[in-house]
Amino acid sequence: MAAANGNMVVQALKCPVCGAQVKPYARECEYCGTALVIVSVGAAQSQTADSPALTDSLAKWREVLAHDPNNAAANYALGVAFLHQGLRDAALAYLQRATQAAPEVAVYHYNYALALFNDGEEMGLDQMNTVSTEIDYASRLDPNFPEARAFRQFFAACALRPANPKGAAAALEAAVQVCPDIGIFYAWLGACYADMENYTAARPACRKAIELDPRLGEPHITLSAMAYETGNVDEGMQWASKAIALFRTPIYQAFAIYHLGVGYEEKKDYATAEQHYHRASELSPQFGSVYRHLCLVCCMTRRPDEGIKYGHRALELATSSQAKAAANDSLGLCYHQLGNHAAAEKSFREAVAVNPKLGQAYDHLCSLYYAWKKYDKGIEYGQKAVELIKSPPEDLALAYNNLGMCLWGKGQREQAAQMLQKAAAINPHNPGFQANLQAIQQKR
Ligand SMILES: [Zn+2]
Repeated sequence: MAAANGNMVVQALKCPVCGAQVKPYARECEYCGTALVIVSVGAAQSQTADSPALTDSLAKWREVLAHDPNNAAANYALGVAFLHQGLRDAALAYLQRATQAAPEVAVYHYNYALALFNDGEEMGLDQMNTVSTEIDYASRLDPNFPEARAFRQFFAACALRPANPKGAAAALEAAVQVCPDIGIFYAWLGACYADMENYTAARPACRKAIELDPRLGEPHITLSAMAYETGNVDEGMQWASKAIALFRTPIYQAFAIYHLGVGYEEKKDYATAEQHYHRASELSPQFGSVYRHLCLVCCMTRRPDEGIKYGHRALELATSSQAKAAANDSLGLCYHQLGNHAAAEKSFREAVAVNPKLGQAYDHLCSLYYAWKKYDKGIEYGQKAVELIKSPPEDLALAYNNLGMCLWGKGQREQAAQMLQKAAAINPHNPGFQANLQAIQQKR
């Protein structure tokens, strides 16, 4: 056996279904069409589920195994065949045995890793380690194996993304160069572009992911989040609903249900939003964002006491500075509503301390200082708010309005009128903005 030379072993590989000799790195058998190098477990399962050739080969390989249980080719063939039949658990056992019986064959390790990986949704830490070890092993046995190389890039990107979406995107761009037809790569590429707020690049990447692998939930969520971000609430809700139907595990389902809830919240259907958030928190009790939104919904429906409880829970569970800031900001709104202005100020200040880019929290401070007639501070925070708030437009309009009111309070009538005009121009349907603008123009 050519233990030291992976290339030779790949060249000697036979199709598990028809037994034909296959070319190195061939994705599928040119005689019977069986997928040889798995690029998506879902695609493998839809490809040859009911083929008679598959049934024949299963019987043949079972016979081989009856005499020689450690026969690597037979174990591999049965593993691939079961994968095509949608019997993933059975496939995993055979593929693993193949890697143990012939540890020098790169494609055995690779296919075992891919079957285990599935689309990543069900993976715990142990499985994740096995998958990346097996992929590493495959690419060390055969450094030219394109899919193994690309998947190494993919795993590097997964580790990079939270802190460095740009670096992760670069790794994924390299992966799709090597393998342009693996859906999960585009799904993550889209998510990284979305993290970078490059929606023009993110949308086609997500759509490509869905086209290549329609059962991926992740790109649907990314499309949903981008639609909300750009004010297309109905579209965002459609993507979220599709994701709910696709995800299989409670944590991912909770994430999709929460996303749909955000759509209802945007539409001011707070009761339905709240139902979705409760359902999501039942499925995934450690999901901090859900509590933050429950806090907000309680505030919108004038139940600040309840909102404060959720806000504190959100703070406990927040892992990123953005999440901590958002939780503090929502908590501040509840305290404000309760009339506890000191606690509100503390929460808003905490929010801008951990995330100095959270424009909405500056606006909330501005509005608080206006109420306290501390116009200098109000103007300072209001200016920060209008500088930082990019979306939604209603929030920006509100920030201009609040800044305008502080300027007016301070006696800077001309500048105040300009700010109030901006608020009314951005959101002409808000009666409060119109009233303020008319008032300042009449008193001029
Ligand atoms: Zn074949």
